[in-house]
Amino acid sequence: MPRRVAMREVGPRDGFQNEPETIAAADKIRLIDMLSATGVPRIEVTSFVRADVIPQLADGAEVLAGIERRPGVSFSVLIPNRRGLEHALPHRDRFDEISVFLSASESHNQANVNRSIADSLAGLEETLAAAGEAGLRREGVIATSFGCPYEGAVPPERVFEIAERLAAAGCAEVGFGDTTGMANPRQVREFFAAARKRLPGVELTAHFHNTRGQGLANVLAALEEGIASFEASFGELGGCPVPPGSTGNVSSEDVVSMLHEMGIETGIDLSALIAASRAAQEVLGRPLGAHVLRAGPVDWRVGQS
Ligand code: ZN
Repeated sequence: MPRRVAMREVGPRDGFQNEPETIAAADKIRLIDMLSATGVPRIEVTSFVRADVIPQLADGAEVLAGIERRPGVSFSVLIPNRRGLEHALPHRDRFDEISVFLSASESHNQANVNRSIADSLAGLEETLAAAGEAGLRREGVIATSFGCPYEGAVPPERVFEIAERLAAAGCAEVGFGDTTGMANPRQVREFFAAARKRLPGVELTAHFHNTRGQGLANVLAALEEGIASFEASFGELGGCPVPPGSTGNVSSEDVVSMLHEMGIETGIDLSALIAASRAAQEVLGRPLGAHVLRAGPVDWRVGQS
């Protein structure tokens, strides 16, 4: 298992995008500043998707302008296409990385971006090339890597072919999303064992959802295959609109707590992370689902708040 893991906090994008409320830019900025003070090395701060498609993130430029740039924290933005990149590039000094995305299953890709996988890949290759010219580090995220709500099983071979295309187009990192929480730990082990052979030199990132309560088990399975890069969402914010009622990403504090208890370093101050989730609860006016948010870290004494 890795001795140290690189976490990427995706709550400000993946989380806020999929919550029913639209959060004020000032609140987002305050929460992202709290997150970047936790020691987390990477934060996905917003996206440049069309405002009519995702109104929750229409304030991307304002958020980027307002958040504090902290040494050692890399900010990324999610970019859907070439047009999104053009909207992001004027704010180039405010972020370090982009992530692009597509789905491994045709029907989910159609439902999500209304294009075939082949069309998505062709567009993303152009977008990635332009982002490379702007000196941006690039991550490609493949949704439904472990199963599709419309098609069921997704052959790993198909996922790896897409990942190879993304790597060839300049992605230093490929993230594999369990978008609707269909992965199981055995599948995750087999998947990453094969992925490591197929994609040498590419940073492999696991992005699990806790839809069916198997998020942490899947994190452990990925760790056992040497995966050292994980995306998670503070508070367990977010989810996926399909299927309705899905719970969110695996929670950052639950992953970080488990890693620390296992002796794996993250560089993150868990108490500061919990404080950020509490602040998010206050903004939303309702409790969030993360276990460690409710119970506190293992080393907190009973009765201590
Ligand atoms: Zn997610």
